[in-house]
Amino acid sequence: MAANTVTPVTPVLPAPAGPAAPPGPGTSAEAAPKLGLPLPVLHATVLDWYAANARELPWRTPDASPWAVMVSEFMLQQTPVKRVLPVWETWMERWPTPADLAAEAPGEAVRMWGRLGYPRRALRLHGAAVAITEKHGGEVPEDHATLLSLPGVGEYTAAAVASFAFGQRHVVLDTNVRRVFARAVTGAEYPAQATTAAERRTATALLPAADRTAATWAVAVMELGALVCTARSPECGDCPLFTSCAWQRAGRPPYEGPARRGQIYEGTDRQVRGKLLAVLREAHDEVPQARLDEVWPDAVQRARALDGLVADGLVEPVEQGVYRLPR
Ligand code: SF4
Repeated sequence: MAANTVTPVTPVLPAPAGPAAPPGPGTSAEAAPKLGLPLPVLHATVLDWYAANARELPWRTPDASPWAVMVSEFMLQQTPVKRVLPVWETWMERWPTPADLAAEAPGEAVRMWGRLGYPRRALRLHGAAVAITEKHGGEVPEDHATLLSLPGVGEYTAAAVASFAFGQRHVVLDTNVRRVFARAVTGAEYPAQATTAAERRTATALLPAADRTAATWAVAVMELGALVCTARSPECGDCPLFTSCAWQRAGRPPYEGPARRGQIYEGTDRQVRGKLLAVLREAHDEVPQARLDEVWPDAVQRARALDGLVADGLVEPVEQGVYRLPR
């Protein structure tokens, strides 16, 4: 990460004490009590940082199609960029349009998903590709509400695709953005476990007015959270918001909320599901129960994991004791 070269501004975000500054140009009634400096300065600071530090990613290039953006957003929801990149590239080579994916069996999407984790996302992406092909002429819809109607597309994905693929103005709240706002604006080390109405109001108040600028702001804050304001070890010395960050100015108070969910994997049903699915992905054919039995010693947990995969539509029973990916 390059050192911060942006001139620090003080204070950009909430004034920690004293009367609130009057609303400056670009501030809204919602933002005014929280901000000690006009929004345009905050925007310029973060946007300048992004221009100098953003990673070059294939789904961010000017010629990336809306479908390329949508695929990246499905993959990036719970998986880091480094692991997503090779899978995204292979995926886009094989299925450059929604129609290409829709023409294949959902099991092929599960197979290509590989080890990205949370493979139900592959089924949902396949479902979205089918809906786009059948109902929207094969083109990813631009409209936020229409995006939201696609299978597997929730509020976050609809806002992200509308912003990043079509340059629209939407609140895009992922875990990185929420963490940056929690620290820089609210002064808390971590946001609440689930997105709150107050967070959404804050994010709305901070959004630049112009569509294109708002879209770049959304990805810029996300990148700041991914590269600098990381969950465990924020690099505050490299941060463009260093002198104005509410959490930093408060002396980095420790998190006092409810225990945060860990990402335990070893020994969980998730791990067993991953092992069972790996056998089916690699088989390219129907798989007898005996081969699945080899992957995990605990028969009860193994059966529970397999039942879960079948219930989720990720695995299809062919006949008694024979399984395959869905067709
Ligand atoms: S100063 Fe530190 S805590 Fe505050 S926004 Fe920047 S990286 Fe995050």
